[in-house]
Amino acid sequence: MSSAAPVSARITALDVLDVRFPTSEHLDGSDAMNPEPDYSAAYVILRTDATDGLEGHALAFTTGRGNNVQAAAIAALASHVVGLSVEEICADLGAFSRSLVHDPQLRWLGPEKGVIHMATGAVVNAAWDLAAKRAGKPVWRFLSEMSPEELVGQVDFRWLSDALTSQEALDILRRAEPGRQKRIARLLERGYPAYTTTPGWLGYSDEKLARLSREAVADGFALIKLKVGASLDDDIRRMRTAREAVGDGVRIAVDANQRWDVAEAIQWMRELAPYRPYWIEEPTSPDDILGHAAVREALSPIKVATGEHVANRVVFKQLLQAGAVDIVQIDAARVGGVNENIAILLLAAKFGVPVCPHAGGVGLCEMVQHLSMFDYVAVSGTVEDRVIEYVDHLHEHFVDPVRIGEGHYLAPALPGLGAEMHQASLKEYAYPDGPVWSARL
Ligand SMILES: [Mg+2]
Repeated sequence: MSSAAPVSARITALDVLDVRFPTSEHLDGSDAMNPEPDYSAAYVILRTDATDGLEGHALAFTTGRGNNVQAAAIAALASHVVGLSVEEICADLGAFSRSLVHDPQLRWLGPEKGVIHMATGAVVNAAWDLAAKRAGKPVWRFLSEMSPEELVGQVDFRWLSDALTSQEALDILRRAEPGRQKRIARLLERGYPAYTTTPGWLGYSDEKLARLSREAVADGFALIKLKVGASLDDDIRRMRTAREAVGDGVRIAVDANQRWDVAEAIQWMRELAPYRPYWIEEPTSPDDILGHAAVREALSPIKVATGEHVANRVVFKQLLQAGAVDIVQIDAARVGGVNENIAILLLAAKFGVPVCPHAGGVGLCEMVQHLSMFDYVAVSGTVEDRVIEYVDHLHEHFVDPVRIGEGHYLAPALPGLGAEMHQASLKEYAYPDGPVWSARL
């Protein structure tokens, strides 16, 4: 990997910030399980003594309370990172990721799930941000220009080989190799398809739902999403309102955010079926593989989607092996970072299941677009039935905010992963001492 920095450059600090946005004040982001989220970031900065002055930025996303716990977990990884050679990390991000994941003491807190795994993901993603900045490329392109062998080297195949071997992964990547340049050109030209959740938050009035739904179609989105699961009567009325607003040619997905038991999910969705929901997202517990399989079997042809709370590649493996999902929803900040998401993209490709990432929150759109674009160029080779979630919140806080045009994510051009926030935002929304919070608390 190219770099103007001296070989001796070291990681000098891993800084962690607790940054929270008071989004609950406007019911933006309200759903059946999260009625009052304050979108928050446990934000990490890797600093180095390289002369290039580059830093690695990333975040773990939370919804407010507990963001300090997430930040503490990230800080617990500092001793693994500070003092390491920047060159060595950037030359083998797979080895770096495995060294964090397999810490023999910290892994007791998981293994590979929950707060500690999200902390690992944030640090691993910050290292990818740093490596891509040093290479002068956005992460999607940095990944898309790696050889199949280098990409396979990013993946931890432990616990995967009954579903996906490293040789099968290599075959998938080699098969996609010939078309890479053509697909990069298409991405640069028209971007990657997006869908919007903006119209469908539970806290919005029917009038606002109808207006925002019509605006979404006018803006070029081919799919909108509604939150459901709080009141069946309300959901039937909202689904009818949205269907009338957008007509028959636009897909409407619904998202229950884990609200139901299995039988309830099936009954509830049968009531919404006349309005032709395209997928039901998180119908029940994200750990319930057999439950998702039962919901899928009962509701076909309505598709079943999950992933934003799926803890790791092993659970994704089982969801795919059990035929429990039609759509895999990766999240940039839930699992162990870019490396584990490469594994999940490869698993989805092996099983022929489309990936439609979860995004929104704060910074999730900025990060996850890189993974879908890489998937298109170098893994699945297609955007058919694939869309990245888009929510128009909080992008103004980012140095390289997502850009949407005609219902597509435009390919990021700046080097890195996109999670870097403006210094002013980090200061203003610092919890609890930044001015936004000291005025409220
Ligand atoms: Mg969701």
